[in-house]
Amino acid sequence: MCYNLCPCKADLQAAAPRWLWVMGSHLTIANESSWLRLKRLFGESFSGGLVYRRRAYDVERVDELLDKRRRNAYRYILLLLAVILLPIAAHNLYVGKLVPAIGGLLLLGILMANILLLSMNREAFLSPPLVLLLSISLLLLSIYYGQNHSLYLLYPLLVALPVLLKTRWAVLWGVLSGLLVAPLVFAQHDSITAIVIGLSMGLTWLVSAWLVYVVTEQSRRLKDMAITDPLTGAYNRRYLELQAAKALELWHRYQRPASLLLIDIDYFKRVNDKYGHAVGDAAIKALVDVISRRIRSVDTLCRFGGEEFVLLLSETGIDDAEKVANKLRVAVAGENILPKGNMTISVGVAGVTGTGDLDYWLNLADTAMYLAKKSGRNRVEVAEPVQLPQEPLAKTVPDWR
Ligand code: GH3
Ligand code: MG
Ligand code: MG
Repeated sequence: MCYNLCPCKADLQAAAPRWLWVMGSHLTIANESSWLRLKRLFGESFSGGLVYRRRAYDVERVDELLDKRRRNAYRYILLLLAVILLPIAAHNLYVGKLVPAIGGLLLLGILMANILLLSMNREAFLSPPLVLLLSISLLLLSIYYGQNHSLYLLYPLLVALPVLLKTRWAVLWGVLSGLLVAPLVFAQHDSITAIVIGLSMGLTWLVSAWLVYVVTEQSRRLKDMAITDPLTGAYNRRYLELQAAKALELWHRYQRPASLLLIDIDYFKRVNDKYGHAVGDAAIKALVDVISRRIRSVDTLCRFGGEEFVLLLSETGIDDAEKVANKLRVAVAGENILPKGNMTISVGVAGVTGTGDLDYWLNLADTAMYLAKKSGRNRVEVAEPVQLPQEPLAKTVPDWR
């Protein structure tokens, strides 16, 4: 009998690009033409904070792919900046303004060195805030030396500020460059023109910041949708896989404990039969509410099947996990979740073990949960690693692949 509850690490890794695609950031696209790839990378670069190292994702390969994408996006952005700065340096050299010319050439050299490093899959030594600060300074210097047309090259840099920098830095750099450019603009133009230029620069910055906000918000919502269950708001299996893989990794590397609770509502078919599906759904939601109010923010509650949940308790040994399970069981039994009377749960508890993967861990919890059911329900049973039979006693957790 196939009893593969959750994918193993290799499966997770293979699946990784697909969920990232679901989250709106498809990383690997076969047979993509260079033009389409360029277009995609450009589009992806408008995702706010993209060039920053993201929170470590849980599977090494995903980390690697995200890092690659981040480096690629930064490389293209640096290339664009180099294209903006090249005419400034060249023009200053041509008209013999040596200070901005040498500054421009130096900056171009630094940009090219960073592009080269990124192309070799290495980290750039110049961070985005510094790149922008130096580029804006060069433009201001160039304007100061009488290259008035350089002013208009500030626009693409103002667009880049919210794209490349976190909001507070983007605001700071925007205000600073505004303060520095204002006296130059007022000195060289009549006041109406200077005000119009100032307003249009401010608008350029605002529109870019707004676009970045919208895109970031959208991708955050997509990500939320990809990892939560719509009925209850609890996390879904995909998220459990990620968190459980991380807990297993922590156990293997540092022997940090973690426990899984497999929770199943008792006699739930009867609830549906007696009150109907809508009341059944409301009861499932109420159960999530009761449990969520009693767990820590570091714990992960996932809806695993219809009325089955997995609670991953991080940094929790088996004894504490049993106490938590009993606390939850008593709390659920004490709430009037159903229209008439209450509802109970059976819980199987399993601690992370030195042997085995997530499948093994879940099988342990499932076997314990089955024992709880067999022993009368509204109970907590703790799994012993030796307790796991070759073939599972029951198959309370459905196949899902
Ligand atoms: P046991 O004590 O052995 O767990 O008995 P049970 O009746 O709860 O059996 P089981 O766990 O197999 O019950 C699954 C039932 O839960 C099947 C289905 O009617 C119901 N169910 C599953 N998902 C949903 C859902 O999303 N909404 C509602 N209303 N019912 C669901
Ligand atoms: Mg069930
Ligand atoms: Mg049940």
